[in-house]
Amino acid sequence: MTDRRRFIQASMLGSAVLATGGGVARSVPAAAVCKPRVVSTWDFGVAANQEAWKVLSAGGTALDAVEAGVRIPEADLRNHSVGRAGYPDRDGHVSLDASIMDQAGNCGAVAAIEHIAHPISVARAVMEKTPHVLLVGEGALQFALEQGFPREELLTPESEKAWKEWLKTAKYSPSINSEVKDFRNLPGGARNHDTIGMLALDAHGNLSGACTTSGMAWKLRGRVGDSPIIGAGLYVDGEVGAATSTGVGEEVIRNCGSFLVVELMRQGRSPQDACREAVERIIRKKPATAKEIQVGFLAMNRAGEVGAWAIQKGFSYAVCDAVKQDALIPGKSSY
Ligand code: ASP
Repeated sequence: MTDRRRFIQASMLGSAVLATGGGVARSVPAAAVCKPRVVSTWDFGVAANQEAWKVLSAGGTALDAVEAGVRIPEADLRNHSVGRAGYPDRDGHVSLDASIMDQAGNCGAVAAIEHIAHPISVARAVMEKTPHVLLVGEGALQFALEQGFPREELLTPESEKAWKEWLKTAKYSPSINSEVKDFRNLPGGARNHDTIGMLALDAHGNLSGACTTSGMAWKLRGRVGDSPIIGAGLYVDGEVGAATSTGVGEEVIRNCGSFLVVELMRQGRSPQDACREAVERIIRKKPATAKEIQVGFLAMNRAGEVGAWAIQKGFSYAVCDAVKQDALIPGKSSY
């Protein structure tokens, strides 16, 4: 049974076979075995994927690719939901969350870290240079400074202006993108949350993932979302696949979202079916809450097959491989 539950990649034949939990084999189209491949959440995933692709197409590792990829939105001053220029918390502090994980279960994360523009690289340092998985707040900052990361002011004049505007009403209501929008050519500020979660499969067949965010704008000081929680915002298992999430992190944490998606794929679900079941579990548990919020999952199995699902319309994800480097795909949704 264990063997039947594993994904078997029949690369010699140009196709792969997936065995479901019930033992019914499902063919994966040959195109799905095309590797390397990188996928990531939202429209800003397109530019991030292209950076990751530089690594993957040169034969680099999935781990290096995801770190390099998500550093692009972390550095983008137009992006107010990831990294530098992320919108601050209720009290005006920019605090960032990030995690990284490879196919062997190695992982690292930082939560509520301030003054560091690239939390994903600190997360990788936690993974590679400490016996720990997660460092938070002051301790995460101290570790980053010891590792030579520069201490910077992350609150940009534009983010400060938006925060002061918000203070006039101080109403906390994360907005849902209800149609697929492409913010790439617009000035920043159109969104007050959204995370980049990136999953990559390299030429050696190894998977890795990264997830980085400034979380929900105007959150309570100290609030941590799903993104730095292994199993919630990100999970990778080299035997099965990888998953990441975006949206209201509290609901993802409650349901161990990304871990659930990977476990559903282990039982034979396609990435899209697995994402759909994870979303529908959130909806079933709290139907009234789910109507008002967005959560989206993105998954890739170890054969390179990709799928996504969200509660609401408006979720999109970017795919990049040898065939197409700038695909932006509308995610399917339950509502
Ligand atoms: N998942 C992120 C958080 O809850 C925010 C988002 O992706 O919109 O911090």
